[in-house]
Amino acid sequence: MTSPEHEQQDLFTSFREVFGHEADGVWMAPGRVNLIGEHTDYNDGFVLPFAIDRRARVAVRTLPDSRTVRLVSAQGTDGVLEFDLDSLEPQGGYGWATYPLGVAWALERSGIRVPGFELFLDSTVPLGSGLSSSHAIECATITALAELTGASLSAQELVLLTQKGENDFVGAPTGILDQSASLRGERGHAVFLDCRDQSVELIPFDAEADDLLMLVIDTRVAHSHSDGGYASRRAACEAGAAALGVPALRDLGVDDLPRAKELLDDLTFRRVRHVVTEDARVLETVSALKSEGAAAIGSLLDASHVSMRDDFEISCPELDLAVSSARDAGALGARMTGGGFGGSAIALTPRAVESQVRAAVLEAFSAAGFTEPQLFAVSPAEGARRLA
Ligand code: ADP
Ligand code: MG
Repeated sequence: MTSPEHEQQDLFTSFREVFGHEADGVWMAPGRVNLIGEHTDYNDGFVLPFAIDRRARVAVRTLPDSRTVRLVSAQGTDGVLEFDLDSLEPQGGYGWATYPLGVAWALERSGIRVPGFELFLDSTVPLGSGLSSSHAIECATITALAELTGASLSAQELVLLTQKGENDFVGAPTGILDQSASLRGERGHAVFLDCRDQSVELIPFDAEADDLLMLVIDTRVAHSHSDGGYASRRAACEAGAAALGVPALRDLGVDDLPRAKELLDDLTFRRVRHVVTEDARVLETVSALKSEGAAAIGSLLDASHVSMRDDFEISCPELDLAVSSARDAGALGARMTGGGFGGSAIALTPRAVESQVRAAVLEAFSAAGFTEPQLFAVSPAEGARRLA
């Protein structure tokens, strides 16, 4: 029989080797994939991410009378990084340490005294693939620190504190999608999130039960949320909502699109149409998953991609090729996922054709002269928790 401590022995051992004593415990938080609902979050709309079976684990020990933080990553090459909690500066250029430091900082800002701590990180979430390796670190760390400080915080409070760390310390103007998936996900479920009232409903999404898997195709094309593409899309959405006299695009339905077409210039109209139809697709995906299961959502994924490619214009040739080559080889549906301009696509793939789809995507990229993409299957997995 293996105990939880036994299963996490590798991390306890690494912690002991680096810091010379025992960790208090091991916590984990997963990366995430957004199944559908892209660029709807800042329009008060709907998103449907799920936690994946790639996760960051952290072994942590608090240093009760200290303000020193020591951090090590198994994936890092920079050894032990050391910081003083009393001299942290937002956007201080701390490299990956900004993520654990950011949540410690946010906890302190909310009035929870965080002692010094030592943390050993080991993550299987690929970095920079759009699967939120950075949020996995934040969510694992905040889950550990919340428990070790005895703070009684709800999952929703943890989501908001993690967002505070991202926005005010890391300096990334992100919403709550990533944290909600990582902190609130459950095995075999997607997290249906209403970004207006922040309510969450877990929706059965059991691809395996339908002999399906979700293939992630990481194009290796660099994405950046802070670039002008994101800001200009956001601005267009705000302009569209203002012109139509609603607080946010969430308040429009597909029935409002003819009026929008009359009032808006073509570019703004297409931006608005993406968001309005994408919100509708999230709702349709939720009801299809509830009534028919994962095999029923392929055409919604396809339509989402077309909308992002043609109306929102956030795709790129590599993402389009990932989607079309996966579909041609037998995927039921595929779309780019994440902010766009690179990053990953997802393809809902019957197990029976997985190897065909993988081979076809690799072949298409090679023929096009693109960098070889990384492909891996993910399944909807449990959210952040203590492991040992
Ligand atoms: P994403 O979150 O989509 O993977 P980001 O650019 O937001 O991409 O975050 C990637 C950053 O997170 C990396 O540059 C690195 O600083 C940090 N990171 C993620 N995982 C690890 C890890 N295992 N060890 C060290 N740093 C990591
Ligand atoms: Mg990130």
